[in-house]
Amino acid sequence: MSRDSTTPPEGYSVERENMLDFKVLDQFSQINEQEDKNFMLTTVDEVFNWAKLSSIWPVTFGLACCAIEMMATSATRYDIDRFGAGAFRATPRQADLMIVSGTVTGKMATRLKLIYDQMPEPKWVIAMGSCAIGGGPYFKYGYHVVKGVDFLVPVDVYVPGCPPRPEVLLEGLMRLQDKIRGRQAKLKAPRWVSDYAKKIPYRK
Ligand code: SF4
Repeated sequence: MSRDSTTPPEGYSVERENMLDFKVLDQFSQINEQEDKNFMLTTVDEVFNWAKLSSIWPVTFGLACCAIEMMATSATRYDIDRFGAGAFRATPRQADLMIVSGTVTGKMATRLKLIYDQMPEPKWVIAMGSCAIGGGPYFKYGYHVVKGVDFLVPVDVYVPGCPPRPEVLLEGLMRLQDKIRGRQAKLKAPRWVSDYAKKIPYRK
């Protein structure tokens, strides 16, 4: 017996799929089939944003161990191409996403800024891993390491970890897609995070 392809299997959470739904697709589904003249209304911005978030091209650029995880994300097991972001470009002039994957040393800082400046607008930056976010293990004694790539370029999404697993980078990419779509992040911090935060002594 064939099952209706639109019905999820029993016990399957559709929450994730709902989170990924595009507003434009919602509007497609609202087309009234009863009327002869089907039409839909949307804004040009929404269609453009849909196109932008569905065809993000990252620049081929890796700095340290986190770059290995980024490469794994683009390989078959994790397949970043499912999100339209698999076309890693060998020139910044054809790219609109910079994934800063690794340790940003002072020596690389000027190169990184140059690559960013060569990318056309609109462009986005993901800081991947603790090194890119804030210096990571080199925070205290790494005199040669920039303590956060946001000193150099504006960061849109921070992906924590040392290194972050490919799933985490994909999560970061989805949050970037949300941002391009103009949707506020719906995710709540896990309970252990808020419990932990309450224990941190707070001085006025
Ligand atoms: S965050 Fe960790 S894994 Fe990533 S580049 Fe730094 S040391 Fe390497």
